[in-house]
Amino acid sequence: MTAAPNRPRVCVLHVGGTIGMVRGDEGFGPKDGFLETYLASMKELERAELPAYTLTLLPPLLDSADMQPDDWVRIARAIVNAYDDFDGFVIVHGTDTLAYTASALSFLLPGLTKPVILTGAQISLAEVRSDGREHLITSIQLAGTSRIPEVCIYFGQRLLRGNRAQKVHNDHFAAFDSGNMPALATVGVGIDVRSELVRAPGSGVPKLVELPSRPLVVALRVFPGLQASMLETVLAGAHGLVLETYGAGNAPTRDTALLDVLSQATARGVVVVNASQCHGGRVRQGLYQTSSSLARAGVVSGHDMTPEAALTKLYCLLASGLSPADVRARMEEDLAGELTRPATH
Ligand code: ASP
Repeated sequence: MTAAPNRPRVCVLHVGGTIGMVRGDEGFGPKDGFLETYLASMKELERAELPAYTLTLLPPLLDSADMQPDDWVRIARAIVNAYDDFDGFVIVHGTDTLAYTASALSFLLPGLTKPVILTGAQISLAEVRSDGREHLITSIQLAGTSRIPEVCIYFGQRLLRGNRAQKVHNDHFAAFDSGNMPALATVGVGIDVRSELVRAPGSGVPKLVELPSRPLVVALRVFPGLQASMLETVLAGAHGLVLETYGAGNAPTRDTALLDVLSQATARGVVVVNASQCHGGRVRQGLYQTSSSLARAGVVSGHDMTPEAALTKLYCLLASGLSPADVRARMEEDLAGELTRPATH
């Protein structure tokens, strides 16, 4: 589509997801050209009150279950390469790992000055009741006009900060939620932006954080029955671990062998971060004896970060070549609005 001179311009990057999938013999899968044809048929996208868009395919189109860290970098690079030519970006993505990609992009693109909005759908545009149509229209509108210089997720009538969001439902249209932060905008008859929550813009073109190495970063959800030997297996060769703990950051500690495995890992430089399995609330190491011992073993608090934000942040920091000590320090800092430091008294 050609941009009229005075309409904002939005770059729509299609990377995959249900929204642009069609059903085949083995279930839904991405189909090249489908979204292009569909968007071209949406007459409302030509209206002057909407920004003009350019659709770019980032092949291979993926079910987001197949997204890997290299794909985060691929998307971030495409944004930086086109940055000067557009007022905002919409990333059309699958919902399964959308919160991971949104979190990763927030760490890879520090100092954003323009909106980057990830969206998708629970039902493909090929089906009559798809939620994708409204998501595309509103995301394009928000990306072109809202001036929210953040990586966000638009889904189910809410604009969420990307690194604060989690996929919470695989059936409801409100598939995403943010347990520790209100929506940046809610969309009904009008669009209500909570500007006091929006981060300040950076300046110039964001500099893509380069990731020269590919660290081994793992996540482990603690569970009743977790044994030291299992943890040892998970940690073999790892550079970082997100330990998804119970409640306010608690783990099984009756088995001291488990704590020994953690202490040995942190002593050899593995960065272990404590992130709660709970959708809301924060990690408070020291509130219970079952978390004091984690702190003693050298586990870093993830405060109120989602496990998705903790994992992508840990990956990006380690991959950028920082020392374990620097990574540990930065994990507890707020880099992109992903974490609230506890008030100090
Ligand atoms: N499996 C799909 C994906 O994440 C689910 C979706 O898009 O809703 O790509």
